[in-house]
Amino acid sequence: MGSSEGAPAADTYPRKILEYMEGFLISKTVFTSCELGVFDVLLGAGRPLSAEEISRAVGASLDGTERLLAACTGLQLLSTHQDNGQVLYSNTEQASVYLTRSSPVSLYQSIQYSSRTIYLCWHYLTDAVREGKNQYEKAFGVSSQDLFQALYRSDEEMVKFMHLMNSIWNICGKDVVTAFDLSPFKVICDLGGCSGALAKQCTSAYPECTVTIFDLPKVVHVSREHFVSEADQRISFHEGDFFKDHLPEADLYILARILHDWTDERCIELLRRIYKACKPGGAVLLVEALLREDGSGPLTVQLYSLNMLVQTEGRERTDVQYAALLAAAGFTNIQHCLTGKTYDAVLGHKET
Ligand code: SAM
Repeated sequence: MGSSEGAPAADTYPRKILEYMEGFLISKTVFTSCELGVFDVLLGAGRPLSAEEISRAVGASLDGTERLLAACTGLQLLSTHQDNGQVLYSNTEQASVYLTRSSPVSLYQSIQYSSRTIYLCWHYLTDAVREGKNQYEKAFGVSSQDLFQALYRSDEEMVKFMHLMNSIWNICGKDVVTAFDLSPFKVICDLGGCSGALAKQCTSAYPECTVTIFDLPKVVHVSREHFVSEADQRISFHEGDFFKDHLPEADLYILARILHDWTDERCIELLRRIYKACKPGGAVLLVEALLREDGSGPLTVQLYSLNMLVQTEGRERTDVQYAALLAAAGFTNIQHCLTGKTYDAVLGHKET
């Protein structure tokens, strides 16, 4: 339709589609800037730096660095000012807080995992959609018969994954553990508790609780060595396979980003095991990114569900779908709470 017919500008200039087509250029610019350490160099210098100084510090070509810095400026991750005709660069506040390695709420490790693992898997998204299954075999040459054997295909990959899991709870862990009042539950078991980041949020929000992190043996070893300090006496560990081994008795079981890894059948199998182990009057807290009932969003969660297809055996679900899984395992009085951030909470009870 021509503009002479009064067509809206959107029909003649596909702005959104062009943005979508090129969206990965933005991701890769952020990945590369972090990998080269641009934001760390600027933080460490404590003063604005020229492109030449940055290029020397990160060991990259001047021309390439200049273009990267210009793009980061356009993305509002860097700001510039002129000094005697020379352009000097500084981190914006968001870049300093979230993109530098040393920040307590750093997303650096998540960005590394996105760059080195998730991005490679997404190369096979078309195959994942066609075949309806994850793409470890094509992306990394490993069988995905056992999902976590594929995810943890080397110790290095496992530690990287643990860092990925860890970082988000420094940012929004408090929101999910306080979505419901969990103070009546004194003995908590975090199944698939990984690096212990959510366990720490629980002990800090609820001074009377203790938390056992239950996870696969090699994850527990790394968590104990590198993530949870011995001084944290209210956090303990239990090694095991939650599909096979005895589950410790508790008042509350946390399943954070666990059910989204698995099919409905496996979720119900796990929830039934938890229901059996749970004390009467106890509960299970699911921490997941919830889809809206009609599937209309949020977009981030719709994209996460595609990521689950590419990387796991599961999917993202609505609160009603989680409630159905909980009910199938015997849990009652099921409630959900949207936190307004990425992850939400669903609580199901075991009757007294
Ligand atoms: N709950 C953590 C969080 O939200 O940050 C980690 C979620 S991660 C997606 C899944 C966790 O489940 C990993 O720590 C993994 O090692 C653990 N896991 C997977 N299969 C398991 C099994 N069969 N038994 C025990 N833990 C398992």
